[in-house]
Amino acid sequence: MIPNTPFRLPVLLGVGFWLASALAGRPQSGAPLVLTLRSLEQDPSGSGRWKTVERQARWSPAGTAAVICDMWDRHWCQGATARVAEMAPRMNRFVAELRRRGVLVIHCPSGTLKFYEGTPQRQRAQSAPKVPAQPPLQGWCSLDPSREAPLPIDDSDGGCDDDPRCQSGSPWQRQIATLDILEGDAITDSAEAWRLMRQRGITNVLVMGVHENMCVLGRPFSIRQMVRQGQNVVLVRDLTDTMYNSRKRPQVDHFTGTELVAWHIEKYWCPTMTSDQVLGGRPFRFAADTKPPRDYADHARFFAPAPPGVRRAPAP
Ligand SMILES: [Zn+2]
Repeated sequence: MIPNTPFRLPVLLGVGFWLASALAGRPQSGAPLVLTLRSLEQDPSGSGRWKTVERQARWSPAGTAAVICDMWDRHWCQGATARVAEMAPRMNRFVAELRRRGVLVIHCPSGTLKFYEGTPQRQRAQSAPKVPAQPPLQGWCSLDPSREAPLPIDDSDGGCDDDPRCQSGSPWQRQIATLDILEGDAITDSAEAWRLMRQRGITNVLVMGVHENMCVLGRPFSIRQMVRQGQNVVLVRDLTDTMYNSRKRPQVDHFTGTELVAWHIEKYWCPTMTSDQVLGGRPFRFAADTKPPRDYADHARFFAPAPPGVRRAPAP
């Protein structure tokens, strides 16, 4: 109980000030997203020597989409399923904060849309007006040798890192339930994502989910195709995973394989960021990833030389 004395006003002012400071630590809805975007650039140009470059970006939440790629409930690979489940709580918090700030959240659990038929989030995507895409969006966009070197990891065996090897198949039924799908979100696995962005004047795209060396690059809503439409694309590199068997080339541990693919993306496609830039704290790491943070210079030997005449994505 605060005594009814001249001390009362200062005490109340003090509490008010504390509350205001606590709230000031949390940006208001609509406040710009201030991001540090990491790329690899050749220095000097064409030399084949790459250096890490960081740039600040201020993005309007209303002009930004968060694309969640293939965070399925179940994968044919047990290790992959477990890593999605481990990463999902952090991704849910990340997306919740982006949503609160005013970012459009697009859930893209490819091949499971039947599960969501008739929901308002599915209808929102379906009702976005048809707009042309140039080049036309494809169901899948493979590695583009005119623009990028071969991937630094050999994923030709499907990338199961378990022993014994998992049996491949298509057991996914829906997006993992850990990720909330809320009012105002959208669900799609096609060019509808592009239509939603055009409908709302969205030019910035944060891509997260799995798998970095496959769907995160190839799907019609993800990196290669959104970059080709001229979007400012950024990969959230601590909220992704690879299908990479660490017994295959270049025989590094699974998480180094994921970082190698992030560096490939930073060279040829788009910058990356980490979820702590929005959530605070530290970037997400899998519990099994106990190595110190990795530096490109220590791993440059794992990259094949870029094909002649290769060009870089324009900076966002
Ligand atoms: Zn497996």
